[in-house]
Amino acid sequence: MSAVYNWQLGRPMSYPHAPAAPEEQFAFVININRCIGCQTCTMACKSTWTFSKGQEHMWWTNVETKPYGGYPQHWDVKILDLLAQANPNGVKWEGGLQDDPRKPYGSLNGKTIFEAPEMVARGGQPNQVLGYLPAEEEWTAPNIHEDTPQGGLNRPMDFGGGEDATGDKKHKAWFFYLARLCNHCSYPACLAACPRNAIYKRPEDGIVLIDQQECRGYRKCVEACPYKKSLYRGTTRTSEKCIGCYPRVEGRDPETGGESMETRCMAACIGQVRMQGLVKVKEDTTWVEDRYNPLYYLVHVAKVALPLYPQFGTEPNGFYIPPRWVPTRYLEQMFGPGVSDAVERYRTPDRELLAVLQLFRRSNRIISKYELIEGQKVWETTVAGRKFEMFNDTIVAFNKKGREIFRTQVEEPIHVRPEAHANSI
Ligand code: SF4
Ligand code: SF4
Ligand code: SF4
Repeated sequence: MSAVYNWQLGRPMSYPHAPAAPEEQFAFVININRCIGCQTCTMACKSTWTFSKGQEHMWWTNVETKPYGGYPQHWDVKILDLLAQANPNGVKWEGGLQDDPRKPYGSLNGKTIFEAPEMVARGGQPNQVLGYLPAEEEWTAPNIHEDTPQGGLNRPMDFGGGEDATGDKKHKAWFFYLARLCNHCSYPACLAACPRNAIYKRPEDGIVLIDQQECRGYRKCVEACPYKKSLYRGTTRTSEKCIGCYPRVEGRDPETGGESMETRCMAACIGQVRMQGLVKVKEDTTWVEDRYNPLYYLVHVAKVALPLYPQFGTEPNGFYIPPRWVPTRYLEQMFGPGVSDAVERYRTPDRELLAVLQLFRRSNRIISKYELIEGQKVWETTVAGRKFEMFNDTIVAFNKKGREIFRTQVEEPIHVRPEAHANSI
């Protein structure tokens, strides 16, 4: 066991493997509010990496309808149930939200999947991580319960609707699309559980990979990953997972001439809701302050993007802007205590946040830095009792070498085609 620091939990944590912080860390933000569930991301990955024999049921990235959907089925309910058994007195976030990037969500009082030893030893064999191996049928029907809302006729799960504590009106019936891929965790459970040390975290970008030569298909990673993003392939008898499209991130795609490029599932996003990049991290995995890196800004400055199930303890590097219309209680068990503030900031964004949101999917290059050029005020209104001002600012995106990738404005210009011969060039 190593004693490591987990900034998402705001406290030290036990981790059953030697930690290895990379120089930079692969990370992404997904804006749930704008995801249309089109599955273009899903198919972009499948058509690139998992179209071969034995990979038919393998979806490295998928989009599931919450609360009922899941791939594999009920993955989050099952791991939350195991954690609840390991924490009979419940799990609590203490200390409140803080401006300290070492503990932005306060501190978690409760055991993670690495800290529940009495739950871990099963079948006489000590395991490193609390987890479960899904049955084969749970991997079928990857998009089960698509568009099924909570709060229908039978209301089997009651997370409430109506109005929440912040006075925010919530829909009585609701669902949302949760787009998922491997989180390239800072403390990967898959890596910790592998008895052959076949899984490694790349020192240059933190991408977590399975060495196919070393893997013997014991499926310990499949059992340990709480997000169930390591998958077994029967034809090769090895496990496989998202490779973070590393050739693109390295700049080896011929299209960019050496420039780092976002992954397939990010670049293909029709809804323009996904952004991927690299953040600098310290030895203890906390993020180096990088105020104008868009990911740093969204997670640590605007604080609108929150980690997925931080209580699992793997320190995932996938962050989500939570949906406005879903009851806070449901969202808090998924994204932690920052939900209400994040929703509030997203609903009435300040001028910088509104400008940064325009960076999503204007290019397939990785953005390392942005700059804001202030423009005229163009609109003013009231949203949920709060004043909202809109400025037509320009935001400029730069790559790692400081070269401008593109610039765009908050108000997109509208081009009207001439009525005559509209389809001519
Ligand atoms: S999400 Fe799962 S498979 Fe990916 S790095 Fe984390 S523990 Fe490993
Ligand atoms: S990053 Fe690449 S490999 Fe991973 S899910 Fe997205 S497209 Fe697939
Ligand atoms: S491509 Fe984008 S909008 Fe479509 S399902 Fe995926 S994340 Fe959502």
